[in-house]
Amino acid sequence: MKQSQIFGHTLRENPKDETSANARLLERGGFIYKNSAGVYTYLPLGWRTLEKIAKIIREEMNAIGGQEMFMSALVEKKYLDATGRWDVPIGFEAKGKNEKTADFVMGWTHEEVLTAVAGRYVNSYKDLPFAAYQVQTKFRNEPRAKSGLLRGREFIMKDLYSFHASEKDLNDFYEKVKAAYFKIFERCDLKAFYTLAAGGVFTASNTHEFQVAAPAGEDIIFICGKCEYAENKEISKLKNGGECPKCGGKVKMEKTIEVGNLFPLGTKYSSAFDLQFTNAIGKKELVIMGSYGIGLGRLMGTVVETHNDEKGIIWPEEIAPFKIHLIEISGGDADIKSRAEKIYRDLVAGGIEVLYDDRDDKTAGEKFADADLLGIPLRAVISKKTLERDSIELKKRSEKEAKLAKISDFSRLKFE
Ligand code: ATP
Ligand code: MG
Repeated sequence: MKQSQIFGHTLRENPKDETSANARLLERGGFIYKNSAGVYTYLPLGWRTLEKIAKIIREEMNAIGGQEMFMSALVEKKYLDATGRWDVPIGFEAKGKNEKTADFVMGWTHEEVLTAVAGRYVNSYKDLPFAAYQVQTKFRNEPRAKSGLLRGREFIMKDLYSFHASEKDLNDFYEKVKAAYFKIFERCDLKAFYTLAAGGVFTASNTHEFQVAAPAGEDIIFICGKCEYAENKEISKLKNGGECPKCGGKVKMEKTIEVGNLFPLGTKYSSAFDLQFTNAIGKKELVIMGSYGIGLGRLMGTVVETHNDEKGIIWPEEIAPFKIHLIEISGGDADIKSRAEKIYRDLVAGGIEVLYDDRDDKTAGEKFADADLLGIPLRAVISKKTLERDSIELKKRSEKEAKLAKISDFSRLKFE
């Protein structure tokens, strides 16, 4: 992609109405555009990263047998009436202009809808277990939508739901989701803590959250410095400086961002929708369910909150919008420009994702500042100076030192 042609560009100043680091850096970099409080547009650059996060999530969900599907955003009242959730204040009601009352809500979660769908296909124990997920936009009238991508009123969520014939089967699958979540967050270079959280409204058992330490976090957890056993403050009896009940290590308090969660749902939804199956001895039983969420935008915002310096973002390799930021410092010199163009074309032909700063109206200083702001993992600079030595100057965004590499070697590099 040529930087001169990209839709959306960097801003000189921080946006005035943004207080959180993720919103400031992502807006200044031209990754996102704020439409309204808690409502964002992903510009091409930001969408590339979001899609990479989605790809990681899909791979890990598919690996544990999750089947991708897609549900409607409009959810009719009858579904939420069945569980008494129609009046939950977080919902945005949806009604036609000329209608007095709303028959729909903009979906803010999909347990009810999917349980109703499952009713058509689940009859016997042989139809179980299964797990289905979607990557879809959710709508919530969040009263505190002020942290950029961390808390949107409209946001993209991966929601996975699982259906089981027994509590044991749910528990086994729950452990698989837990392992998959660890992989997802690791691949995004996030250290996430598996945290015991408030008991489900629906089951006696506890729920779990994946929490990432960050000053911008709205949650507080108590976590053992030694074994990393963690509990959300909402339910914890642990104390800062106290002793870990698991290993005796020292417990500390952390501000954290909840990037994902797991809920054992028991039979709350299956009983509301009478979702039953016939067991092996011909008896009817209620299906046992679980649900598991990850907010993709919140995950992206969390990465920015935890991967930046005073100059800008430092994207982890796997979710960076591009792998290489190629910059030409030609000062209008046609020869330098054409050498840079050739390297750009070679990289593209080699299947390497490269952002090429071909802009003629920017100084070297401006180009470097933008490269730091955008945070692409490897910066590669071609200038008169480097070409005199048949070289290209390479610098990792995460490191201070640059080094020269021969252009012939560089072209042969594999950036996997
Ligand atoms: P929170 O406690 O932060 O309000 P939640 O417990 O209501 O979130 P769920 O409804 O279970 O979260 O949603 C699943 C996941 O979706 C969360 O773990 C989080 O990653 C993400 N998420 C939830 N609310 C938002 C939001 N308003 N904006 C962005 N992401 C969100
Ligand atoms: Mg929560």
